[in-house]
Amino acid sequence: ATETEEKDLVIIGGGVAGYVAAIKAGQEGLKVACIEKRGSLGGTCLNVGCIPSKSLLNNSHLYHQILHDTKNRGIEVGDVKLNLKQMMKAKETSVNGLTKGIEFLFKKNNVEYIKGTGAFADEHTVQVNLTEGGETSVRGKNILIATGSEATPFPGLTIDEKKVITSTGAIALETVPKKMVVIGGGIIGLEMASVWSRLGAEVTVVEFLGQIGGPGMDAEISKNIQKTLGKQGIKFKLNTKVVEGDDSAADVKIKVEAAKGGKEETLEADVVLVAIGRRPYTAGLGLENIGLETDNRGRIVIDQEYRTKIPHIRVIGDVTFGPMLAHKAEEEAVAAIEFITKNYGHVNYGAIPSVMYTHPEVAWVGQNEAELKEAGVKYKIGSFPFSANSRAKTNADSDGMVKFLADAETDRILGIHIVGPNAGEMIAEGVLALEYGASSEDVARTSHAHPTLAEAFKEAAMATHGKAIHY
Ligand code: FAD
Ligand code: NAD
Repeated sequence: ATETEEKDLVIIGGGVAGYVAAIKAGQEGLKVACIEKRGSLGGTCLNVGCIPSKSLLNNSHLYHQILHDTKNRGIEVGDVKLNLKQMMKAKETSVNGLTKGIEFLFKKNNVEYIKGTGAFADEHTVQVNLTEGGETSVRGKNILIATGSEATPFPGLTIDEKKVITSTGAIALETVPKKMVVIGGGIIGLEMASVWSRLGAEVTVVEFLGQIGGPGMDAEISKNIQKTLGKQGIKFKLNTKVVEGDDSAADVKIKVEAAKGGKEETLEADVVLVAIGRRPYTAGLGLENIGLETDNRGRIVIDQEYRTKIPHIRVIGDVTFGPMLAHKAEEEAVAAIEFITKNYGHVNYGAIPSVMYTHPEVAWVGQNEAELKEAGVKYKIGSFPFSANSRAKTNADSDGMVKFLADAETDRILGIHIVGPNAGEMIAEGVLALEYGASSEDVARTSHAHPTLAEAFKEAAMATHGKAIHY
């Protein structure tokens, strides 16, 4: 960029929110620049989040299955060994392929990629500290903030990403820990606990609340997956808070007590994963230079059209309201560009799915039972266990269930909750049903191929509307 050039749109942050907005803006014919400081595009999700974690989840599952679940299937294997270095290499290969792919898409859509750290100089100008040295500035008619989030630290524990780690350390350990304590039984905690437990670590998850899975997971589904993860060897301490951590010796000591006070205990581990949530990231962005403030949780405040109080500056993704999910960021990116180019954009926040990629997976969309009760909505429940689904049985992978929640009077679907094999793919049908305002009868009367796991989805809808056939 030259110092005088003005873009239609300048985007700060090349994560999912920023890069999708950049591509969409390019497609709409806007002159657009995207500033990213990390050295590669794709943000948390592609570099240290969704993608590398799923590579390790997939391959650790395969390893665990080969070790424990082949004989009864008639497959005899010889010596099975873990080559962690190679597993990490496979992860890096998928990450590199995808991040390079975005660079290609930038070129294809005429997006200027500026490598460096951006900070507001004034309401239309972003000063960039270039990664390769030196500075430049770029002016934008519109500016989009998409700077994402970072792991929330635990007071008293110093993150070194070796002994005391966040998810970033957890996807890059060089050896399998003997004992791992996970602080926080949310999605990151459980996905990473799964990876390292499968590879041989003794893992204990400490969770403040009485259920695992983080915000939004239905209580019955949470109990169901906890039982299965327990069978896989993960230990849980629920209703337990970490009071103190001491990382001065080789092993980290974690003092915990009952959440309501009382019984104290000290856990020791060679690796402690801090997974108590993520917080918006705005450090060094120079928000103070343009008078923009954040709320008490660090989020930049916006209106329905993603505008800050300076109307040509918009904000999307993890750094503002809503669930911290890549596909939510992606929806917002498209909508924000449509607001700029067409004055209209749309995201249905009531139909954003959540998926936890443990085995089995957990996936849901819409409201859970506790939320419906709190809202005073009368609902009916229909559920169907995978143990009665022919395909799950054939695959000898039949833990879990599908559960529908529908309005007691109108039958309109209010929430769908799945724990089971391939739940993350199956929920897409639920999202579509919710998006179209379907009733459970609509789904129940839709033909689903046999034998598929998706028949469990149909039968749960049948159980909501009337009766399931196979249970
Ligand atoms: P980010 O991806 O954080 O991107 C922001 C980018 O802005 C970063 O690359 C940062 O370097 C850059 N930046 C910040 N400040 C500046 C600046 N001043 N100048 C220039 N650049 C700057 N979500 C899912 O939907 N599915 C999953 O399976 C999933 N798995 C996850 C696993 C882990 C371990 C983690 C940590 C997260 C996971 N998430 C998942 C969440 C997902 O990664 C985020 O919701 C998503 O990355 C948000 O996108 P974003 O663009 O808002 O922010
Ligand atoms: P989270 O909010 O999902 O879970 C954090 C958990 O830590 C909660 O259950 C909370 O009760 C518990 N906790 C907080 N303080 C504690 C304490 N002192 N002691 C014990 N427990 C404590 O957060 P996360 O798992 O860190 O994930 C962060 C974000 O990343 C989430 O918004 C999540 O949606 C996103 N993410 C998504 C995926 C996915 O979509 N598959 C994967 C990873 C991360």
